[in-house]
Amino acid sequence: MEDSAAPSLIEWQLPDLVEPPAQVSMNYEIQPGDTLSDIFMEQGFGNTALNAVLAADEELLALDVLRPGTLLRFERATNSGDLLVLSIVSHPGHTIHYRRTINDHFEFEEEIKPSNWHEEVLGAPIHGSFYASASEAGLSDGDIFRAQRILEEKVNFRRDVRAGDHFEIVLGREMVDAGATGQTRIEAIRLRLGNRTLNAFLHEDGNYYDDHGESLSRAFLRYPMQGRYRVSSHFNLRRLHPVTGRIAPHHGVDFAMPTGTPILSIGDGIVSRVGNHPFAGKYIVIEHPSHFKTRYLHLSRIDVKQGQRLNRGDRIALSGNTGRSTGPHLHFELHVNNRPVDPLKADIPTASQVPAEEMAVFTQRVERLVAAMQANQTQLASRSTPQATKADI
Ligand SMILES: [Zn+2]
Repeated sequence: MEDSAAPSLIEWQLPDLVEPPAQVSMNYEIQPGDTLSDIFMEQGFGNTALNAVLAADEELLALDVLRPGTLLRFERATNSGDLLVLSIVSHPGHTIHYRRTINDHFEFEEEIKPSNWHEEVLGAPIHGSFYASASEAGLSDGDIFRAQRILEEKVNFRRDVRAGDHFEIVLGREMVDAGATGQTRIEAIRLRLGNRTLNAFLHEDGNYYDDHGESLSRAFLRYPMQGRYRVSSHFNLRRLHPVTGRIAPHHGVDFAMPTGTPILSIGDGIVSRVGNHPFAGKYIVIEHPSHFKTRYLHLSRIDVKQGQRLNRGDRIALSGNTGRSTGPHLHFELHVNNRPVDPLKADIPTASQVPAEEMAVFTQRVERLVAAMQANQTQLASRSTPQATKADI
């Protein structure tokens, strides 16, 4: 009987040799009208997982507005069915993973691919309006809006622009291995109005200057409120979170202030988002014409609408204690080129000129961009019918 025991033991063990994977993954493409809670329910994940992921997203707010076409990836444990990782590909160069650590707690991790900026010159004679001509030349509404804001201290686009005027714009497109990320930035503008020429060049500090290195944007305010308030928590990429007791980045600076304190936009800009997040509370995101973005969290009242144009110092809200907060305060963030920086230490455009020690690099860049725009213009002039042109640099 011993002989038959061996094969039966092998048979017994066989199913175990082909172990099921410990986790399975599922991709989901966001559809118009989707909410995160609908998607979680559809995928069979409960409110506990949803809340834990939203808590991990408090510093990013990447899941608060779901853009259709964006890809989500869920990894779940085969045995328990629990969500282990949720990943969102915000663009081909930027993926965020919300990963279960212990119990029901999640932490985020960002995957940022190295990128470079591909430059092209777009130019056209102006007929009708600057907007119509720029649009025809291939610039998006966002790029046209930014171009107008960059030069708005120098030119009134409605009054000063006439038929026969001309523009060139050097547009940068961010590229990663997988292709274009969809991010663009204006590297240079040359606008010829009659016999007057206006120039704007992006410097490495994220601000725009004319060809002499004079700043085109108005200086920013350092603080988004009048008066001074105690800093209750500094910008810190490795902070001990006051509520969860864990190490987590703090992407802003917290000012302790009574609820109802007026909050001001630190610079000219446009309200790009207004929201109410279970953890960040009522919040506002403002995009500024240079490569700056600011965010204001835990507000009690919001006084602006998405798409609204703002001037530096405009009142946008009243401070509060909404969302997950240990007391009345303002959480204020400053992003340069889409990355959070310390608002108290960052090199914000308060200077009116390119610093002397950076002038050589700046001038070299100006010469290169002017040559590219000039070449484009010469090519255009050689044609019998004026039309929009586009060329890679
Ligand atoms: Zn904070």
